[in-house]
Amino acid sequence: MGVLPDSVQKVIDAFEKLPGVGPKSAARMAYHFLRARNNDAINLANSLLTMDQNVVNCRDCFNVSETEVCSICDSPLRDTKQLCVVEDPLDVVAFENSGVYKGVYFVLGGVISPADGIGADELRFPELRMRVGNLTSKIRDHKSSGEMDVAVEFADNPTNKGCLELIIATNPNLEGEATAVYIQDLFRKEISEGTLHITRLAMGLPTGADLEYTDRLTLKRALEGRRAY
Ligand SMILES: [Zn+2]
Repeated sequence: MGVLPDSVQKVIDAFEKLPGVGPKSAARMAYHFLRARNNDAINLANSLLTMDQNVVNCRDCFNVSETEVCSICDSPLRDTKQLCVVEDPLDVVAFENSGVYKGVYFVLGGVISPADGIGADELRFPELRMRVGNLTSKIRDHKSSGEMDVAVEFADNPTNKGCLELIIATNPNLEGEATAVYIQDLFRKEISEGTLHITRLAMGLPTGADLEYTDRLTLKRALEGRRAY
């Protein structure tokens, strides 16, 4: 038996499993709840339980949601001709907080990373194919029924080609790049048929960056993402 009562040790062990939390921080957190004799522990436990019981993945985009279809996919105000592929739900939060994106999302569930043992089979590529298929056929149906003039509606979108735009928003590191290449390969047929075009976020130099200390990949992406001045 250890120095600590089992119940305390169990809480420390649980905290230690959290990302970025080491043994010392885990112990400090556990002691916080022991010291603070208010409802903090009960509130935390209840919140975790409620989250665990109520949150599911959205049927269409796999973002976290409390309903079968999330509020973004369900909104008639979102542009379903733009599909942004992100690694995880927190990326959706970042985009939504920026307020600049009005399309819909697809949460891949990670990136291809051989070093971490994550291959393409572990990610939601079949579901992405289905999502792209549904959205492209929706565009085709609307076009053929003449319900809207795509060219006019998207006149302000410089990348608009009257088809689905898939924006790859994986992180600008090796794994993110490898995943972007894989997605490009996955939709070769749709791209050649003209039903889909793929773009990648123009990630490059952060504000205040110094070219001298910028790594090759960042500089390459900054150059690729250059625009008219
Ligand atoms: Zn959704």
